[in-house]
Amino acid sequence: MSPTYDVIVIGLGGMGSATAHHLSARGARVLGLEKFGPVHNRGSSHGGSRITRQSYFEDPAYVPLLLRAYELYDEVERATGRDIATLCGGVMIGPPDSLTISGSLRSARQWDLPHEMLDAREIRRRFPTLNPHDDEVALYERKAGLIRPENMIAAHLQLATRQGAELHFDEPMTRWEPCKDGVRVHTADNTYTAGQLVICPGAWAPQLLTDLGVPFTIERQIMYWFQPTGGVQPFAPENHPIYVWEDADDVQIYGFPAIDGPELGAKVAFFRNGTECTPETIDRTVHEHEIQAMADHMSRCIPALPGSFVKAATCMYSSTPDEHFVIARHPAHPDSVTVACGFSGHGFKFVPVVGEIVADLALTGTTDHPIDLFDPRRLATAPA
Ligand SMILES: Cc1cc2nc3c(=O)[nH]c(=O)nc-3n(C[C@H](O)[C@H](O)[C@H](O)COP(=O)(O)OP(=O)(O)OC[C@H]3O[C@@H](n4cnc5c(N)ncnc54)[C@H](O)[C@@H]3O)c2cc1C
Repeated sequence: MSPTYDVIVIGLGGMGSATAHHLSARGARVLGLEKFGPVHNRGSSHGGSRITRQSYFEDPAYVPLLLRAYELYDEVERATGRDIATLCGGVMIGPPDSLTISGSLRSARQWDLPHEMLDAREIRRRFPTLNPHDDEVALYERKAGLIRPENMIAAHLQLATRQGAELHFDEPMTRWEPCKDGVRVHTADNTYTAGQLVICPGAWAPQLLTDLGVPFTIERQIMYWFQPTGGVQPFAPENHPIYVWEDADDVQIYGFPAIDGPELGAKVAFFRNGTECTPETIDRTVHEHEIQAMADHMSRCIPALPGSFVKAATCMYSSTPDEHFVIARHPAHPDSVTVACGFSGHGFKFVPVVGEIVADLALTGTTDHPIDLFDPRRLATAPA
């Protein structure tokens, strides 16, 4: 008997929902299985906003994928009428030799991306809420901005359903095995067969992908909302850019204009100072000393922001040792399994293009997008 589905997608968060959309748009018979409900806040894709930018300090190899992602933001917005991207402009700030500045500049130059360099005085003049040291500079990118993760996921789920994908929520995969013509996937009450399996597990990667050999670290991260002194108007997206700000001690913070309604103020966070956790053991309580540390840091950079604390929420990063993604056919199951994981705290802006790539890999085994950087074999640990 031939398999019931062409592709089963495990995990309908950021990457899995985009994959289900792209697969079903191409006519594939798709089953999506998700552990929780649609658009939940237990993984890595919640909190109202995610930064997007093109002058990518992490590596210029990401830029072509970003150019495609931007096209797809528009497509998804047009197809569903949902508010996906707000390109309010963005500043990458830091000492001239910081990774944030030198890496952004390298990508901008290599890909000829429109950008401006601002000295400290010009930063203060254009963006009066920002208070850089005299020796800090900024790369300003007009096309940087933010995307709304919950809207993006809801849009992809909506499109996938419209195109005939079957999406099951609150039905986690418990295990899977190869079978004749593909894979067999088990949940508590059902067994399904498909020609191809796609696993987009987010922070559950260490549990679902033990045979990938990649040493993932799952990190607890905190997002903070503060009500600025003097109100939200100076922080409105017409007036305020997104920012990534690296200080002389290599600490990076990032933040957003006020987009969550006047009562919530504006959101800010540390980029990479999380603590190791698992999805089962993560401490969801945000403690007083953590709020104080964020407010203290902001009082130098954006003095008006930490007026009063409004709320905080936790979220998880799934980091690889080099902080680059893993997107590939599974090396141990190259004929039937594709994986997209290890997004290391910077994956959301790529969601629609990752969906396109994973659909390519699942249906044809290859893609025209440049993904050499994301090969899991670069990270595989030697068998014990
Ligand atoms: C605080 C924070 C800030 C961030 N800021 C940015 C930013 O500004 N810009 C940016 O680009 N990126 C940012 N990121 C990173 C980005 O959000 C993530 O890289 C992205 O959301 C990862 O998507 P995902 O699909 O891998 O994970 P998820 O969206 O978490 O999806 C994984 C899904 O798999 C499901 N699942 C797990 N196990 C099973 C199972 N057995 N069966 C079925 N389903 C299962 C889970 O329930 C979940 O829904 C940030 C992340 C955090 C936490």
